[in-house]
Amino acid sequence: MKIQDLTYQKSNFWKIATETEQKKAFKFADEYKMFLNECKTARETITLAEEVLKKNGFQNIETAKSDCKKLYAIYRRKSLVAAVIGDEPVSKGINIVAPHVDTPRVDLKQSPLYEDKNTGMAMLRTHYYGGIKKYQWMSMPLALHGVVVKNNGELINITIGEEDGDPIFIMPDLLPHLAADQYKKNVSEAVKAANMNVILSTIPCKDEKVKEAFKHHALMLLNEKYGIREADFLSAELELVPAGKARDAGLDKSMVAGYGHDDRVCSFTALEALINTQNNKKTSMVFFADKEEIGSEGNTGAKGIQVIDFVADLLKANKEEYNSYNVRKTMINTQIISADVNAAINPNFPQVHEKDNAVVMGNGVSITKFTGARGKAGANDANAEFTAKIMDIFNKDKVNWQFGALGQVDVGGGGTIAKLLAIYGSEVIDCGTGVVGMHSPCELVSKGDLYSTFKAYKTFFEKA
Ligand code: MN
Ligand code: MN
Repeated sequence: MKIQDLTYQKSNFWKIATETEQKKAFKFADEYKMFLNECKTARETITLAEEVLKKNGFQNIETAKSDCKKLYAIYRRKSLVAAVIGDEPVSKGINIVAPHVDTPRVDLKQSPLYEDKNTGMAMLRTHYYGGIKKYQWMSMPLALHGVVVKNNGELINITIGEEDGDPIFIMPDLLPHLAADQYKKNVSEAVKAANMNVILSTIPCKDEKVKEAFKHHALMLLNEKYGIREADFLSAELELVPAGKARDAGLDKSMVAGYGHDDRVCSFTALEALINTQNNKKTSMVFFADKEEIGSEGNTGAKGIQVIDFVADLLKANKEEYNSYNVRKTMINTQIISADVNAAINPNFPQVHEKDNAVVMGNGVSITKFTGARGKAGANDANAEFTAKIMDIFNKDKVNWQFGALGQVDVGGGGTIAKLLAIYGSEVIDCGTGVVGMHSPCELVSKGDLYSTFKAYKTFFEKA
């Protein structure tokens, strides 16, 4: 046996992929960039995903024709489940790819608007969502996305800061000249949540009798444009996200730089894999979960009942038993990829990884047996048999893959929705794209890894 047949080595996509494959990877990345630009919030992602599904012949399971094999359901406009029924009965087990569609961001507080006493500026208070390094979000262009629901139930979509000519918003950081005290603080204290206020506007209204003329003027502008009043903020979901489009990165354009690769990269590749899957024996399914970044809570998160509810509907649609017993057995027969990103080695901070067990950008989709912290606390830890099976089908389909853990033991940790889906008794493994600069306003992924992730999910649907 040759030595290279005995050893395990990662391989670089750009070294091993054919020229045609490399071109496909670049083209795929162009479509992905458009997806990123359209989908900056969970709601926007679900809206676009539904459009894509409908275009590809999927029908809402509640109103679908009885012979339709491509079905989907949407939960509260922030979570989605879609499936293609395979040749075998659904109860033989489903192949599920499950990414999340929420992303770290800066939400507006429910009562956000105030007039700053020192400057008169109209300001918005914020409350960050998910694990962000607060200082990274200061003094950078932000766009406002979200919904306001008026008391008559009318839903108003708001997007400010993405079109040419739109204003953007800034939470100004402190200038270095006067930051002597800030420099002495540790990074988590240097910018406090209370410092993360956005300047909304700086022109007062003309009426001199009005008490807070700057705040009043801001409210007038909002009312003119959207017909909303201050009380409408109380129920609104308004999110500040980095403004602007995803871009190619690097001289060779080998990467995509943008906001929200975690976890839109797995959402996009899962959706593309589902609509391009051919001849699947088993039923293929995607589950887009919300709220992963804050612990998967709430009725749109992975702790919700969407998957089980949909599986019961799917059994019913396929004229199989859909009682609790058969739903449980179906889930035990099911295989799940928890489709989330992993931390690829950042060449500026390599010390947090252990090279042989880390993800390297450009070396393919990452398979992760367990996540968690310290002694694997909070990990799903995929079974050896299932892990070996995934490696085998990827090898047979020439998917460029690598094995990767999150980082050095005891330097931190993190988790995915894997353990929540494993509650059903299904086989579950983490598998997704490596990201550099995760949870920052501008994350990086390799176009080779992006394309490999798509191929991996498609192979999983067709062969697992
Ligand atoms: Mn994630
Ligand atoms: Mn995350």
